[in-house]
Amino acid sequence: MFDVLTDRFTRLRRQLLGYGRLSDREISQALREVRTLLLEADVNYKVVGRFVRAVEARLKDKDIAASLKPGELINATLYQELVQLLGGTGARLDLGANPAVVSLVGLQGTGKTTFAGKLAYKFRNRRPLLVSCDPKRPAASDQLKSVAERAGCDFFPVSGDVVATCLAAIRQARDRGNGIVVLDTAGRLHIVPELMAELEAIQAQARPHVGLLVLDGMVGQDAVSQAEQFSARLKLNGCCFTKLDGDARGGAVMSVRQVTGLPVLLVGTGERLEDLEEFHPDRMASRILGLGDMKSLADKVQAATEGLDQRAAAEKFLKGKFDLDDFLKQLKNLRKMGSISQLLAMIPGAQGLEVDDGELVRVEAMIQSMTPTERRHPDVIDGSRRRRIAAGSGTTATDINRLLKEFAQARALAKQMSGGRGPRLRLR
Ligand code: GDP
Ligand code: MG
Repeated sequence: MFDVLTDRFTRLRRQLLGYGRLSDREISQALREVRTLLLEADVNYKVVGRFVRAVEARLKDKDIAASLKPGELINATLYQELVQLLGGTGARLDLGANPAVVSLVGLQGTGKTTFAGKLAYKFRNRRPLLVSCDPKRPAASDQLKSVAERAGCDFFPVSGDVVATCLAAIRQARDRGNGIVVLDTAGRLHIVPELMAELEAIQAQARPHVGLLVLDGMVGQDAVSQAEQFSARLKLNGCCFTKLDGDARGGAVMSVRQVTGLPVLLVGTGERLEDLEEFHPDRMASRILGLGDMKSLADKVQAATEGLDQRAAAEKFLKGKFDLDDFLKQLKNLRKMGSISQLLAMIPGAQGLEVDDGELVRVEAMIQSMTPTERRHPDVIDGSRRRRIAAGSGTTATDINRLLKEFAQARALAKQMSGGRGPRLRLR
């Protein structure tokens, strides 16, 4: 996600950290670079202007400046202002009602039907009901039906009038104990009065608790203008960007909150049911700045490790206390967590790394050849133990060395990146 932006921010941050002092000239150079890279990422120009002014004002605040090194100050300021730009804290998807009725709106092709399936899958323990609200395209109803089958949840077909369908579905959900009702409304290629009238009728009569606008992450600023138009007519609680696994530059995601006031609540990062992430401004800001996103990574670990010790595992991981046994368990779970490059993208400094599955199999073999004590306390692994492990796993002592070194680094990073709420501002 947003690889180019992250690369450039990372380079800029590292460069700034090298300075013992920052002159006004260096500050304005840095701000110019920030402006350019945000504009090139397709962030709305007004949003960029406001962001750069806010960063500048903070940098010139003498009280703040006195307590931090210049490079740290800029890094911390960029982080804090980026969190604000992305929406600060507080917004979240509220599915408290029972059944909670969620209406998904958006243009055709943005990913509503796929998103409905992801949402149902995420909240599968509440027995969601997916409702097709597109009477004009029979294919739309069929698509939702097969999505519902894959997500293992109930499906309600459209029949005749859209509003009547919604009301009947909600009634049935109440009778049969579905905890969430998702209305997959019909999109159009463009915003036309007929579409808006239909969505307004659903809103007025089916009274969904949550209105979510689904936006295509690939279309750039067009998405922001769709958000403006939809939110002018409908009561919306937030928006969701799909297709952020592609080469979306990120500008729309970074602009929509400031331009329309709509918070981004969830993002889709692939075509599979699992490819849905909660959007947290603080996590996203650290990801964009190249500080990694250990929290989301821990969430994924937690979601993938079914069983009693999952919370403990995630906590251990964040505290940097995990050992090679935990590491082995996580490796085995990797395949459940989606593509490995997606996971790596969340680790600071690991963005863009390539990993092949063969390598993982070797790592598993190496850990399996270690004794329980060695797995818990990798420090005891000396030369002769290394040779034994290498022989046992069909690798070399150098391979074992590399594994141990990388493991130690990962543990140190996890520790550094975590700590209470959001990443700590100890920026490299
Ligand atoms: P709708 O017309 O709004 O219901 O859109 P669909 O759900 O039918 O999705 C349109 C296309 O986008 C389909 O080919 C989906 O597989 C694809 N799609 C949806 N979400 C994502 C995503 O997060 N990542 C990727 N790569 N493709 C997606
Ligand atoms: Mg659809």
